[in-house]
Amino acid sequence: MEKVNFKTYLKDYPNAQGYFGEYGGAYLPPELEPAFQEINEAYKTICHSARFINELRRIRKEFQGRPTPVYHCEKLSKEFGTSQIYLKREDLNHTGAHKINHCMGEGLLAKYMGKKKLIAETGAGQHGVALATAAAFFGLECEIHMGEVDIAKQAPNVARMKLLGAKVVSVTHGLKTLKEAVDSAFESYLKDYKNSIYCIGSVVGPHPFPMMVRDFQMVVGVEARQQFMEMTGYLPDAVVASVGGGSNAMGLFSAFLDDPVDIYGVEPMGTGTTLGEHAASMTFGEKGIMHGFESIMLKDENGEPAPVYSVASGLDYPSVGPEHAFLHSVGRVKYDSILDDEAVDAFFKLSRMEGIIPAIESAHAVAYAIKLAQRENNPGFILVNLSGRGDKDMDYILEKYADRL
Ligand SMILES: *Cc1c(COP(=O)(O)O)cnc(C)c1O
Repeated sequence: MEKVNFKTYLKDYPNAQGYFGEYGGAYLPPELEPAFQEINEAYKTICHSARFINELRRIRKEFQGRPTPVYHCEKLSKEFGTSQIYLKREDLNHTGAHKINHCMGEGLLAKYMGKKKLIAETGAGQHGVALATAAAFFGLECEIHMGEVDIAKQAPNVARMKLLGAKVVSVTHGLKTLKEAVDSAFESYLKDYKNSIYCIGSVVGPHPFPMMVRDFQMVVGVEARQQFMEMTGYLPDAVVASVGGGSNAMGLFSAFLDDPVDIYGVEPMGTGTTLGEHAASMTFGEKGIMHGFESIMLKDENGEPAPVYSVASGLDYPSVGPEHAFLHSVGRVKYDSILDDEAVDAFFKLSRMEGIIPAIESAHAVAYAIKLAQRENNPGFILVNLSGRGDKDMDYILEKYADRL
């Protein structure tokens, strides 16, 4: 096992090639290597520039509404024992989730690089909406690739992207979902990488994205750590976040790596443990390379990305960011899972008991905090990343789980 010094961790990882231990890197078609090299060089310069940092700070404060508060769930805590559950309210960001944190960073980077267009794919449309928002803010063009099937399913998000001025490219080949949208977005980027930048929606993809997106999300953990200490006088005993690709989790976790705090990443177990019923990549996955990086992933019998499922469309990704695979391998972060039903339960509980309707993704983390609170050796203070709000999920959940109202 690699010996890690968490005092210097953020300087030491990833290495210059983008590796967190044996995970990460940049596995690109040769035609795209110069484009990612350019992004890497630009970010290396800009992340130390006072002008860039100050401008990002101003945007976070004036446009996004940061700092987001930390909230003590007194009623929820009381219901489940003696643990005290706190939420970092990323749902209160402009556009309703943490994704805007890295999209504004990527947009600002594009502007500094003199790019004119942001390109990305989206599945459920959450990344597309956040990126289209950033593009509108910076006066950049935006091109979002989306499978035809997803376009039909996610009409409100498609309408939002169009309202914000983005061009939504319908991808009509293959299964017409996220996988094909990724290929289509890459193709478009390849044709025009001089004028555009490819914006990845989580701590995944080729270097430097896992590092860059983590850095842009770190504001979540840095704020939360300070706010929590001011409120309670202590560090939390446990921090918890949902893990799809892993960006909201890395944002929270990175501020606590050098603290005596237990860290839990929560994956979606969907409806069961059979391949195809879940997206618990860390629990059931193996080492491999997909989407341009090396990590832990779920593979089908041919070694291709396996089909995944979760009630939370933001969590149904067949891999995890390489930094998560690394932190798991060195034992610093524990990964566990929550079923659809448990997440839906937490969705209703948090809504009724605290007046906060969570994103169904975030409800996975809330459900896990409730489980921790019910353990015999329960943590005293639990801090949960409430990554987003649940407006987008209400119709579906109320239709499917009408009996619980
Ligand atoms: C997209 C999304 C997630 C999952 O993405 P990560 O990169 O794992 O954070 C979690 N919560 C919400 C609200 C999301 O929109």
